[in-house]
Amino acid sequence: MALNLLHANDRPGAYPDSWYAATSTPRVHYPSLHGGLRADVCIVGGGFTGLSAALHLAEAGRSVVLLDAQRVGFGASGRNGGQLGSGQRQDQQVLERMVGKEDAAKLWALGEEAKQLVKDLIARHDIDCHLTPGVAWTAEGRRDVRHLHDYGHHLQDSYGYDQIELLDAEACHAMCPSPVYKGGILDHGAGHLHPLNLVLGLARAAAAAGVQIHERSEVLAIEDGPQVEVRTGEGTVRADHLILACNGYLGGLNAQVASRVMPINNFVAATEPLGTEAARVLTRDVAVADSKFVVNYFRLSHDGRLLFGGGESYGYRFPTDIAAKVRAPMTEIFPHLADVKIDYAWGGTLAITMKRLPYLARLSPRILSASGYSGHGVGTATHAGRLMAEAICGQSEGFNTMARIPNTPFPGGPRMRSPLLALAMTWFALRDRLGV
Ligand SMILES: Cc1cc2nc3c(=O)[nH]c(=O)nc-3n(C[C@H](O)[C@H](O)[C@H](O)COP(=O)(O)OP(=O)(O)OC[C@H]3O[C@@H](n4cnc5c(N)ncnc54)[C@H](O)[C@@H]3O)c2cc1C
Repeated sequence: MALNLLHANDRPGAYPDSWYAATSTPRVHYPSLHGGLRADVCIVGGGFTGLSAALHLAEAGRSVVLLDAQRVGFGASGRNGGQLGSGQRQDQQVLERMVGKEDAAKLWALGEEAKQLVKDLIARHDIDCHLTPGVAWTAEGRRDVRHLHDYGHHLQDSYGYDQIELLDAEACHAMCPSPVYKGGILDHGAGHLHPLNLVLGLARAAAAAGVQIHERSEVLAIEDGPQVEVRTGEGTVRADHLILACNGYLGGLNAQVASRVMPINNFVAATEPLGTEAARVLTRDVAVADSKFVVNYFRLSHDGRLLFGGGESYGYRFPTDIAAKVRAPMTEIFPHLADVKIDYAWGGTLAITMKRLPYLARLSPRILSASGYSGHGVGTATHAGRLMAEAICGQSEGFNTMARIPNTPFPGGPRMRSPLLALAMTWFALRDRLGV
């Protein structure tokens, strides 16, 4: 059976036992698909990508059917660290070397558009998801701190981005009293939010705009022709266009995408409320990500818990003790929390590409796909959904800029990519631990 994380780690039709699910806004159950439907556009996947595409298409007057195998927000969109970052996953200096200065500038502008789009959608649809400004990048070594400060200057000088505050060791420690970090940068233009509430809000807005959402409707086969025909266990949808928005949960649904986009698992834990101890974690209501190869990221929840993300795995199944997996890096950063109670621990599957940049592709004249946001999807997935909607409505410029990013297949194809990646990732994580 092809690698498919839709069924590997969760109860059918249920959200994971996460702090997000425990504190979400009321959830609507959308019916599963029975019988045949006809639409202008059919969308597979109800995360940020699919719901944003659906909403923008419906607002442009298209009839849309969206199918999700489980629930809207069941995937990474309802489980992630909630950080709404600036730009792209790769920093601008890397992009300038990769695609040249002109296209790097376009990618920066698209990244900024993505961030603004999320903020606008939250405001326009009155989505209660605790959007709060401020994401810090921190580092342990002097060389990495210097690199972050240089990057802050580069964004100011080359992109006119004036939202970065440089943190020396003292300022960093005042913000985050961990013994580990020695400095960093704080991006006031970035932000953090409750991701499940965002995705539920997008689903409500899409449904209100006329999108027919069907949950518990796994797409089993796609037939491309004069129209696209999509089959689930109990129904079919015929449409002029199809959007694939499955990211890490795609499995074997499309071979071209599966060879370029690889699922990896990442884990989050929510401690018990920390009370006065919270000030020993963060003194400002910002999110933090560090410059480790396997990034540690954390913030305080609005009920005073530490939400800590860290640890990855590259196989089909999550580890049995996710709390222990996350506790290890958490205790390295905050030794005083070694015995803190963990109330919730969960995993999610995201998708990466060889270049750690999204893979947007026109798979046929009628089928578009976007995925592989590599841990930077809150903004870029939402934006990719809008770019696909615009492309279907005849405005392809933004989509084409993203689709020009060179994205090569993983060596070994869908079958061998996981073991090879596991080897490579373990090597890089080991280098982190050894400080080389
Ligand atoms: C633990 C974790 C932490 C992260 N932290 C951050 C962060 O802080 N900031 C950030 O920007 N990004 C982060 N990310 C990445 C981000 O969450 C993703 O890039 C983004 O949510 C992808 O959205 P999506 O809509 O493309 O995919 P998903 O949200 O994964 O949605 C895919 C959907 O497709 C459905 N599906 C799949 N196959 C089928 C099928 N055959 N039929 C019907 N439906 C199907 C699934 O049920 C699922 O609901 C994180 C990811 C994880 C897992």
